[in-house]
Amino acid sequence: MPSHSSFKKVIIANRGEIALRIVRACRELGLRSVAVYSDADATSPHVREADEAVRIGPPPSSHSYLLGDAIIAAAKATGAEAVHPGYGFLSEREWFARAVRDAGLVWVGPPAEAIAAMGSKTSARQLAIAHDVPVVPGTTEALTDAAEAAEVAARFGYPVLLKAAAGGGGKGMRVVRSAAEIAGALDAAKREAKNAFGDDAVYVEKYIEGPRHIEIQVLADQHGTVLSLGERECSVQRRHQKMIEEAPSVAVSPELRRRMGEAAVRAARAAGYVNAGTCEFLLDASGAFYFLEMNTRIQVEHPVTELVTGLDLVQWQLRIAAGERLPALGPIEPNGWAIECRITSEDPANGFLPSTGHITHLQVPGGPGVRWDGGVEVGSEVGLFYDPMLAKLIVWAPTRGEAVARMRRALRELTIEGIETSREFHLRVMDDDEFQRGAIEIQWLERRLPSLLAATPSAADREAVAIAAALIAEHDRGARVKASGGAGDAAAGTAPSESAWARLARAEGLRGA
Ligand code: ADP
Repeated sequence: MPSHSSFKKVIIANRGEIALRIVRACRELGLRSVAVYSDADATSPHVREADEAVRIGPPPSSHSYLLGDAIIAAAKATGAEAVHPGYGFLSEREWFARAVRDAGLVWVGPPAEAIAAMGSKTSARQLAIAHDVPVVPGTTEALTDAAEAAEVAARFGYPVLLKAAAGGGGKGMRVVRSAAEIAGALDAAKREAKNAFGDDAVYVEKYIEGPRHIEIQVLADQHGTVLSLGERECSVQRRHQKMIEEAPSVAVSPELRRRMGEAAVRAARAAGYVNAGTCEFLLDASGAFYFLEMNTRIQVEHPVTELVTGLDLVQWQLRIAAGERLPALGPIEPNGWAIECRITSEDPANGFLPSTGHITHLQVPGGPGVRWDGGVEVGSEVGLFYDPMLAKLIVWAPTRGEAVARMRRALRELTIEGIETSREFHLRVMDDDEFQRGAIEIQWLERRLPSLLAATPSAADREAVAIAAALIAEHDRGARVKASGGAGDAAAGTAPSESAWARLARAEGLRGA
């Protein structure tokens, strides 16, 4: 941190793993941190690790983490001079960025005007088009009625996608495959948008079949430097929610990376962007890419970019907010490969139903190239008030193949007891031959999920069973040798002397798996 830094103490308007991530960045920069918490989080790691902590309110986020005024009051009370919003909650609320600034505090994020410019999908599309950033073919104005929707859809050709201008989290989106469906779909999309965002504006985009989700990380300082840090591939999605992310992408050549990076930088400049942000694109099978939207905050999946660029994005958010200049880096080429798995309290065997309870045992993976960004520990209560993401498991290795092998090894080391988690799901994806080949696109997981879940236990778990079986067989043989007082039983491992474990392993065809 430069000695002229405009702030020494940062309040963190968030919880869980990202709050802890920000505490760590502050500590490394010599800044003091202030956590805020709801009653559900009073004993959470992010609260304990921060230098100070302020209770905001009861568990529901509308009574705690979304109370911008209470958070600003907590900043004033503790003498914090800057506010880091993390992701989710208040991070992309223009009014909050403004309120922080009006209170004389430093906002660790983009200017409120940039949040506003990118806040609506239609205004972001207009901005992109005006600055030569390719967008998905479609309209840039809200539809007035079903007749107009039918006319526009016919012009672009079915299938089309109806999207809420104020959308987020996949809400207010409807795929429409024929003229017969459009009136009903428009009604449904408007209703959903009205409920979720209080705004029923809906527009039309061409529906792109089987694209990849590729996003570009940018960093912009207050002095006019805007850098592209390359891409992340986030195609492994379920219900438009990202599950696994990686950097770089098998589908992006250095030349495509340069072109997408330039488009992202143009979009950021057009919005007057400062701080860390992400431009999301769809990349189709022909190599054409289309701007979707800009996320005006740090993202969940930022660590994969950190691991292949060597840049600490959260530190840079704070340094940029303090007025520091970005270094004049040339084109950034990724070094090695990074993969992130979102470890959630969801039960893959039960339709990803949220699982609640206390964490009774937690063994976190370690060893070479493994990073754990978590927000829970033994004793943590996992409830339904907040997002089900408990932690992110991230690995780095020189090549993609080695990164997959390392992720599988790390997932095997991970033990979480007391609640169901997505661990086994991730193991099965790591074992999947299509995933291993990088043959993924945004519909891949939905299509593959039934066979992934129906599959025999993951190779890793089968291996564990096989090892246990071998040890038991070894033990049985030893016992028999002792009993017979002679040489090993030539029939060891066969009935009737084999153990239940060995039989189980054999039944599943696991010997030597
Ligand atoms: P939200 O802001 O609600 O998340 P996005 O515009 O980011 O909405 O879209 C969410 C996801 O929906 C994308 O990651 C992609 O999987 C899919 N999607 C969005 N637009 C299109 C499109 N035009 N064609 C095909 N899929 C799309």
